[in-house]
Amino acid sequence: MKLLKKLTAAAVSALLMLCPGAVQATGEVPVKDSIKVDKIEFNNPDFIRGMDVSSVVSLEKAGVTFKTGGGEAEDLLKILSDSGVNYIRVRVWNDPFDSSGNGYGGGNNDLETAAEIGKRAADNGMKLLVDFHYSDFWADPGKQKAPKEWSNLTVTQKEQKLYDYTLSSLNYLKDNGADVGMVQVGNETNNGIAGEFEQKNMAKMFSAGSKAVRDFDRNALVALHFTNPEKTGMVKYLADFLNKYKVDYDVYATSYYPYWHGSLSNLTSVLSYVADTYGKYTMVAETSYANTLADTDGHANTVSEYNNNTGSDLLWDFTPQGQADEVRSVMAAVNDVPNGKGLGVFYWEGAWITVGDTTGKSGSSYTKQYNKNKALWESAGCGWASSFSADFDPNDAGKYYGGSAVDNQAFFSPDGKALPSLNVFGNVITGSITDDYILGDVNGDGTVTISDATEIQRYIAKIKDFTPIQRVSADFNLDGKINISDATSLQHFLVRVF
Ligand code: CA
Repeated sequence: MKLLKKLTAAAVSALLMLCPGAVQATGEVPVKDSIKVDKIEFNNPDFIRGMDVSSVVSLEKAGVTFKTGGGEAEDLLKILSDSGVNYIRVRVWNDPFDSSGNGYGGGNNDLETAAEIGKRAADNGMKLLVDFHYSDFWADPGKQKAPKEWSNLTVTQKEQKLYDYTLSSLNYLKDNGADVGMVQVGNETNNGIAGEFEQKNMAKMFSAGSKAVRDFDRNALVALHFTNPEKTGMVKYLADFLNKYKVDYDVYATSYYPYWHGSLSNLTSVLSYVADTYGKYTMVAETSYANTLADTDGHANTVSEYNNNTGSDLLWDFTPQGQADEVRSVMAAVNDVPNGKGLGVFYWEGAWITVGDTTGKSGSSYTKQYNKNKALWESAGCGWASSFSADFDPNDAGKYYGGSAVDNQAFFSPDGKALPSLNVFGNVITGSITDDYILGDVNGDGTVTISDATEIQRYIAKIKDFTPIQRVSADFNLDGKINISDATSLQHFLVRVF
């Protein structure tokens, strides 16, 4: 009896003339890929595998083209959807422009920009999380400045203004083709929102925004977004405070940057507290991880050599594989929140790449590229801040404006081509393997024989379980499932060949 050696998937398909159609992502059979991802058993079937791509429109204005991993130019939103991303997040600033119409940068993310991204997301089957900052530029724990237009309002007037603005903005997004599934009332609002810093006034702003979302669409989820999950007392304080003031919300969202925000087990634990105590959904609204420590645009990165690149909580390499590992790990940590109360994870600005690659350049050639980039950050608003932001934030953005501090945390290389790590968003459903395998060689002895068919039968009878590589080998008819047809096909194949 002649033994078959090195039987490849392609060879088998050709021999058997199989017509498997589209492979079902049942999760039973992993995919073969250049990154390895362990499958997650999601407790919530609609688990959000989301991404914030707020800067995309400004990048395109600056000439950036996004491409598939194979190098074909394609709409970023389609590339993301095809890779397994199922939800898009976009920030909204009320008026990120000075009186002459110059953009503050950071994507110049006004409502019109959000609408364009929202439509492109919907066109590719993805819902939108609208992230209202209720400011004219970046809002975070250190900055919660009210929009220029709201600066002289009383608390009561601001309450009404925030309600009206939220409702009219959501209707605008919907009318322009976005599929709004969730709304963030504020961004990283630990210490304040829209220029209000007292608990009772913050609660009024949250409630006004929430009411607007309810009046917009009862099915849209209301999310409140905070950060510093590593401070367990802070999370309890915030959730208790929201309860005390009877703020109506669905989702407690947090940022989770592993450089600063503690362990994954702590993340699961603090989110579980909110879920168990108050019955809320929880999620990570922002996370990211560097796939390299190199910079590619001339603006220093948040994570670089000697900066945020060490620490006990950094479990992953600074490679595309490490980036995928981080995303998978954060998703698993949120999925571990009991009773399906872990709603999902959004990756922050996964496409904020350079507008001109400075890699390998030095001296005058570097300076020339840097100056070109700088001009684009100013004119297209695709850096984190432009010089015009001094109009609103003179002490920080107005002084330290520049390019992307996260180009090494994107899922795209400097030329716009998708990195292998982008596939993590789909691969978490099926799992993926990187090892070579022989289709049909389930017992891994290097040959395909009748004993492999027997192994498949034992698996189907639940007498034994398979490793990921055994599963992919066992799916002999390539339909994404392992069942009796695989054993039968394999037997027929052996009969024909011998
Ligand atoms: Ca940079």
